[in-house]
Amino acid sequence: MRCPACGAQETRVVDSRVAGPEQEQIRRRRECRACGARFTTFERAEFSLPRVVKRSGERVAFDEDKLRSGLRRALHKRPVKTEDVERVIDDIKRQLSALTAPEVKSDRIGEMVLAALHGLDHVAYIRFASIYLSFASVQSFREAIERLEEDLSPEMRRSQLRLIDEEAADAAADRELTGTGHDAQEEGA
Ligand SMILES: [Zn+2]
Repeated sequence: MRCPACGAQETRVVDSRVAGPEQEQIRRRRECRACGARFTTFERAEFSLPRVVKRSGERVAFDEDKLRSGLRRALHKRPVKTEDVERVIDDIKRQLSALTAPEVKSDRIGEMVLAALHGLDHVAYIRFASIYLSFASVQSFREAIERLEEDLSPEMRRSQLRLIDEEAADAAADRELTGTGHDAQEEGA
């Protein structure tokens, strides 16, 4: 920690205490060894998130806003509360932080989002899958969803398959307009 008065590198901590309304900070009094100036620093815990490795191999910082806009797109006109969306985002950040890895593939984040949407809204889940997973055909899309849905009841599965047909047709139309399939972390709404 550089001294703000003279720029020297050597400072010593003279006092250290917990601070902030929720005791979420550490307040430190420091003294510069060179000029004797005293100053205060605040330290606060922050999630350290891994870098995201995109399908192209490019490494980018995790972008919470892109995740949020991807979720909003999947949840368009669905009866899901904003606070539930924020909870999903917090949850995914916590999972990413718990990986304690320096990097994570964007596909892995997509899987986390799918798992979260599965418990939140099935239409959004199917939409996200159709946006996020690039499928060569409606048939391969159906098969992938069926594999993901093995734990559902037969009635739920039947209603899912109707949705899949509708959403897959939409996704195919989208792809014809925009080129190939796209990646949730790479494109926001
Ligand atoms: Zn100094």
